[in-house]
Amino acid sequence: MLHIKRRKSVPYQSFALSPPTHPLCRPSAVLRTGDALAEASDTVMIRAFSLLLKLKTSGLSDLHLFEILTETALRCPGPCPSCGSSFPAYRQMQPYSRFMISAENGKRVERQISVQRLRCSLCGHSHAILPECLIPYGSYTVGFILAVLEAYLSRKSRVDTLCDQWQISISTLYSWIHRFQNQLNASRSILDRVPQLSLTSIASVRAGSAFLPDFFARFGFSFLQARPPASPSGPPS
Ligand SMILES: [Zn+2]
Repeated sequence: MLHIKRRKSVPYQSFALSPPTHPLCRPSAVLRTGDALAEASDTVMIRAFSLLLKLKTSGLSDLHLFEILTETALRCPGPCPSCGSSFPAYRQMQPYSRFMISAENGKRVERQISVQRLRCSLCGHSHAILPECLIPYGSYTVGFILAVLEAYLSRKSRVDTLCDQWQISISTLYSWIHRFQNQLNASRSILDRVPQLSLTSIASVRAGSAFLPDFFARFGFSFLQARPPASPSGPPS
């Protein structure tokens, strides 16, 4: 079961979550090899969540998670996210290349990955399969951002040293802090924890396998995604 039936999205603006304004905070700053263009060409993405696929994935690296969730999603595609058909015949399309930046053993690792795509035979729309570790329109994984935030909270090194280590700008770090806090605040009813940036709240997001799909179903875009879609029927989230 891949497809999360879209409920009416909660307006993003109602949580006073202002988008980052510094150019380095924008998703385009971390996009390469046409990530945004490739993902925008698919009208609605299929988000592959381990919980919905009934997979135990704790402790897996982002790469393994990506591979397992993609493989499972290809074997068992759910209803079409565009037309809602329960059992459409999908045609596998040419994958597109994308960068994935993840954290492994406290270090930044960059890889080029292939995102698989399916086209619905009934409505003709194509859908990219995006496993839960990926954030749409960006290269950094959820795990990478959480690792950076954990390092920031540990206070073991100065902010500029930490940013050098992870190869990010200071403004990017603060945009992630801002985004994490605001999106967690917005989802208080989903995650029954104190909604603030802390090692406890990060651990809750990591441990709460239901959190990512619930957030997506409720708001219509992905946790830690910089920008929500323009409208529920607009570009994928
Ligand atoms: Zn369809």
